[in-house]
Amino acid sequence: MAHCCDTPGLMPIELAMKKIWQTILPLTEQETVSLTQLVGRVLAQDICALIDVPGYDNSAMDGYALRAEDVAQFGTLRQIGKSFAGTPFLGTVTPGQCVRIMTGACIPTGADAVVMQENTEAKNDAISVLFPVKVGEAIRRRGEDIRMGEKVLAKGHKISPADIGLLASVGVSQANVFRAPKVAIFSTGDELRQPHETLPEGCIYDSNRYALQALLTQAGMQVLDLGVIADNPNKIRNAFLHGDENADVVITSGGVSVGEADFTREILEELGQIDFWKLAIKPGKPLAFGRLPNSYFFGLPGNPVSSMVTFHQIALPALFWLSGKASPIQRLRLKAKALAPFKKRPGRTDFQRGTYTQDPQGNLTVKPLTNQGSGVLSSITKGNCYVVLENELNQVKEGEYVTIEVFDEYFRAN
Ligand code: AMP
Ligand code: MG
Repeated sequence: MAHCCDTPGLMPIELAMKKIWQTILPLTEQETVSLTQLVGRVLAQDICALIDVPGYDNSAMDGYALRAEDVAQFGTLRQIGKSFAGTPFLGTVTPGQCVRIMTGACIPTGADAVVMQENTEAKNDAISVLFPVKVGEAIRRRGEDIRMGEKVLAKGHKISPADIGLLASVGVSQANVFRAPKVAIFSTGDELRQPHETLPEGCIYDSNRYALQALLTQAGMQVLDLGVIADNPNKIRNAFLHGDENADVVITSGGVSVGEADFTREILEELGQIDFWKLAIKPGKPLAFGRLPNSYFFGLPGNPVSSMVTFHQIALPALFWLSGKASPIQRLRLKAKALAPFKKRPGRTDFQRGTYTQDPQGNLTVKPLTNQGSGVLSSITKGNCYVVLENELNQVKEGEYVTIEVFDEYFRAN
C-alpha cells in the first residue's frame, strides 16, 4: 500500500471510504438466533412470511357482521350469535340476520360487511342499522398486509425493533444472522487516567475508550476492551498482537498524529500493512487504516472530538459493511439558514457542530457551537447536528444556507 501522507495534499473522505471498502471483506460466518435476541443483528438470509397477514378476513370495528344488501331491505336484523377474537361464530349469516362482532374477530360465513356499533340501535336481539353499509366495509381482508411466501426482510438487513414485531407476526421465531464483528479497543498515552482515579498534574481522563466502547455496543459490535496502553513500544506491540489474535478489528485512539506516533507507526509497519492518511476533513485530519495479519485496523486521532467524528463518519460505516449490512448508513442532510457566521477555510470538509431549530412553518435555522476545538466534547453533547461545510467553502455569512446533518442515535441524547 502506498503511504498517502507522503504525497502532498489531503485525501478526500470519499476516497478514504473507497479504499476501506476495497480492503474490508464482509464476515460470512452465520449463527441461528432466536427472535428475542435478533434486534440489531444483520440477516444472513431472506425472510419469507410463513402465513398470510391477516390470516383470515376479520373485523376492523366492534359492531355487527351482516349482508350489506339486507340493510335497505329489512327494518331490523336479528342477532343470531357472537364472534369474538379467538372465538369465531361457526354458523352462517342468512338474509335478515347479523352477528355481534368484535375487532379482530373472524367474519362469519355469509356476512360481507361490518357496521360499527355507533351506527346501530339494539333492542335485545333486534338490531336497527341507521345508515347504509357498503360491501366490504370495516373488513380487513386475509393477506392484505402480507401474502404467505412473500419476502418480508432481505439478507443484509439490520433488524430494528419494528422488524421484531413484523417477524413475530409472520410466525418467524428465529433467523440466521451474520456473526457480530468483534472489535478490540485500546487507548494510548502516558497521560491517561481512569475516571475513578485521582488526576495528577498534566494528566487527563481517558474519555475516548469509554465513548468508543459505548458507540460500538450501540452498533451491535462485540467489544474486547484492552484498556490503556502506555507509550512503550513493547506494550503497544503486545496489545496489537493480542487484539489481532482475538478480534476482527482493532481500533486505537491517539498516537497517529505526526511526531509522537513514531513507534506506533513502526510497530504497525512491522506487523501489517497500514496507511497513515491525512484526511481532508476537520476535525480528524490524521487517521490510520489497514490490515494486521488477522484483522483490520483503525487508528483514530487522540483528540476526543476528532476521535468521535472519524469513528462516526468513517469507522462505523466500515464496521457495518464488515457486519454484512447491505445498505450504507443514510444520514439526514438538510439545508438550514445560518443564524451566525461560520469560520471556515477552503481545502477541507468541516464537520462543525451546531444546534438547529425548526420553526412552526418548518423553516430550519442553525447556530454554531461556540467552541469548535477538537478537544471540546461538549460541542457534540450540546449540539444536535453537524454543520457540513464543503471543501471549497470559505467563510459562511449570517443568513446564508448551509448543509446540516442531523445527529443520529449515536450522538443524540433522546
Ligand atoms: P495524540 O494523538 O496521542 O497525540 O493525542 C492528541 C490529543 O488527544 C492529546 O491532547 C491527548 O492527550 C488527547 N488524547 C489522546 N488519547 C485520549 C483519550 N483516550 N481520551 C482523551 N483524550 C485523549
Ligand atoms: Mg498520545
